[in-house]
Amino acid sequence: MSEERANAEDMARELEELRRRLKELTAEAANNETILKRTQARELSLLRADSLAQLLRAMVDGLRDSYSLDAVSVVLLDPQHEIRHLLIAGGDRPEEFKQIFFVDSLVGLAPQLAALHKPWLGPFVGADHHLLFPGTANLKSAALVPLPRKDRATGALCFASREAARFTRHHGTEFLAHLGAVAAVCIENAVNRARLLRAGITDFLTGWHNRRYLQQRLKEELARAQRRGASIACLMLDIDRFKSINDGYGHLAGDHALKEIAHRIEAQIRNMDTAARFGGDELAVLLPDATAAAAATLAERIREVIAAEPFKLTAQIERELTVSIGVAALSPGRHETDLKAMADRLLADADAALYRAKALGRNRVQIGAG
Ligand code: GH3
Ligand code: MG
Repeated sequence: MSEERANAEDMARELEELRRRLKELTAEAANNETILKRTQARELSLLRADSLAQLLRAMVDGLRDSYSLDAVSVVLLDPQHEIRHLLIAGGDRPEEFKQIFFVDSLVGLAPQLAALHKPWLGPFVGADHHLLFPGTANLKSAALVPLPRKDRATGALCFASREAARFTRHHGTEFLAHLGAVAAVCIENAVNRARLLRAGITDFLTGWHNRRYLQQRLKEELARAQRRGASIACLMLDIDRFKSINDGYGHLAGDHALKEIAHRIEAQIRNMDTAARFGGDELAVLLPDATAAAAATLAERIREVIAAEPFKLTAQIERELTVSIGVAALSPGRHETDLKAMADRLLADADAALYRAKALGRNRVQIGAG
């Protein structure tokens, strides 16, 4: 073989090798692009969630389906139980989120979680990981992805698969780390939004709902009463001569009394009733499925428990307090369409009855026109 021919063959082999490598790289680039697009779509589904509950569902069910995983769970650091309470305030039940673990500390569920600074990928080990994925058998590999906020983990996204090769220490972790960072921001945003929403409808002194919430809720309850042909009642309560408590003992003593009155009322009403601070020393209670007579009986009981025991205003001072209560009820007619007008009428009737109770000498219950 001439030298020239040998050279030409070498070059051809090299060219062939380069072509093969180029093809490999092109395929890898295409694969990476697909992964990137899919990851972006998953991250968008988290970013688009409207509420905390929807976000948690997108994280558990959405990610499990779109990644074709066998198990997904989310660990959330929630030492003050705030996230759980925000879910409850939003009308959701935390116990329904079975794959979400609300924990006081990241120690205890899985050894890797205690110091998880970047995604951990590796074999599923029953002794280490069974608490994270209860109820799913034959798992072979897992990925634990930190949810980082301000240089520490606030929880983790936990993925598991029945394929041993799905998550290994040789896999790249950048996509997962990014997903974790986006998920953590989404959780923080959703928690902040839920906090604001709650602050907008809650009275800080009593912890009761405020007037705005009551008016919204009243419309919903009226619509429900209309569908079911039921009646709905409302109590409007105002503390008698409350100003004298403030004038005599100071605003803090007044605040204290107001809270205690709210407490005593709360102990008398049902779970389904809505208590709200209507404004100042005026409180309202909404009673779905109650007639005027039933509401008047409850009002009388409330009046009695408030008048029965003096209120502790300061360490030394106790004073008796009374309330006047107006009661009103209505059954929305089948054909009434103006819920707002009905709501206004119910509140105005209760208020007029309250005014009469005041005029008649206070510490009494009056029933309004119905
Ligand atoms: P009555 O209702 O029997 O006619 O007499 P009243 O003295 O209670 O009069 P009114 O209801 O008009 O006054 C309500 C008072 O409640 C006036 C206000 O200073 C006081 N008040 C309203 N909100 C608060 C509060 O958050 N804390 C305290 N300490 N006082 C409040
Ligand atoms: Mg008053």
